[in-house]
Amino acid sequence: MSGWENNVRKVVPYTPGEQPKIRNLIKLNTNENPYPPSPKVLEALRSLEGDALRRYPDPASSGLVEAIAKRCGVSPECVFAGVGSDDVLAMCFLTFFASGRPVLFPDITYSFYDVWADLFRIPYETQKLDEEFRIVNRDYFRENGGIIFPNPNAPTGVLKAKDEIREIVDRNRDVVVIVDEAYIDFARDAEEAASSACLPAASALPLTGEYENLLVVQTFSKSRSLAGMRIGYAVGNEKLIRFLNDVKYSFNSYTMNQAAIAAGCAALADEAYFRECTAKIIRTRERVKKEMAELGFRFRDSAANFLFVTHPEIPAGKLFAALRQENILVRYFEKPRIDNYLRITIGTEEEMDALTAFCRKYKASCGMD
Ligand code: PMP
Repeated sequence: MSGWENNVRKVVPYTPGEQPKIRNLIKLNTNENPYPPSPKVLEALRSLEGDALRRYPDPASSGLVEAIAKRCGVSPECVFAGVGSDDVLAMCFLTFFASGRPVLFPDITYSFYDVWADLFRIPYETQKLDEEFRIVNRDYFRENGGIIFPNPNAPTGVLKAKDEIREIVDRNRDVVVIVDEAYIDFARDAEEAASSACLPAASALPLTGEYENLLVVQTFSKSRSLAGMRIGYAVGNEKLIRFLNDVKYSFNSYTMNQAAIAAGCAALADEAYFRECTAKIIRTRERVKKEMAELGFRFRDSAANFLFVTHPEIPAGKLFAALRQENILVRYFEKPRIDNYLRITIGTEEEMDALTAFCRKYKASCGMD
């Protein structure tokens, strides 16, 4: 290695799901929303004027922050916006996990957490999910430098009840606990999603008013069909948000661009569309659960917009490759404990029909019908 290379910060990067340019691809590998964003978002983007792009954006993204705050029932001082929740979460690792003590997160979880920890030289310890893929509360009652987990967890889809989250936050008042709620809008039944203005009951967001050390992170990428726009946010006590902003302004003042700010505001303004799409996806998820179970697949009950499935007779790696041949892309993680599982995003009704039809055919071709 040449001398200068010894001075380089070397990292093993996160591997994002593929975004191939294949025509007629059924793309069920990155938990995107199968429906387009609200027409109001496209209108807002079309009406952006040259002047808005010539100037720097509002560094505080005030319009968007205020709209998010209103939706969440908190004050704007309790909201931090970023370039997708990945940006927000990376900033959180840098800001809140500075004690030198190990940060705790599950062994099976969002595979970016250990990457950020390594990048920022933050020690961490993973805690084993139980056999049912549940996060075990008592594993998080030990000395630590902070806690983070998704709810519902990814890639398992397993949901934790709010009272259990409260217990973890309550027993860890000396550190920051982050709940990554990327998929929380799907954690309810379709009827409720279609009709309720409230957050799903499992959301920890209302607890941020009670606990100074709790931060909840959400995103526009999944339930609001805006993965391509990159909008995420954190909600928490004003002090937490101020610390996050201090780090953000020490890094890049203009994280959110004009188009993203406009798109985010427009998405929030179309509550009816949001409810309709979310309810549709949940309805499809529940139908696909039944069909996959009938095909012999096993999975924990998912509260997200994906299923994490395994089959006692069909090796996941083989099925992954066979699906790919059919232009159906799902996600396969070659990792301990989950290397016989596939994570399948819930797409449109037609996409899921194609998936289940292929699985049926594949099973028969293996002599298993
Ligand atoms: N958290 C979890 C658990 C996720 O699965 C994802 C999606 N890859 C993210 C955060 C990041 O989403 P985004 O940056 O698009 O908001």
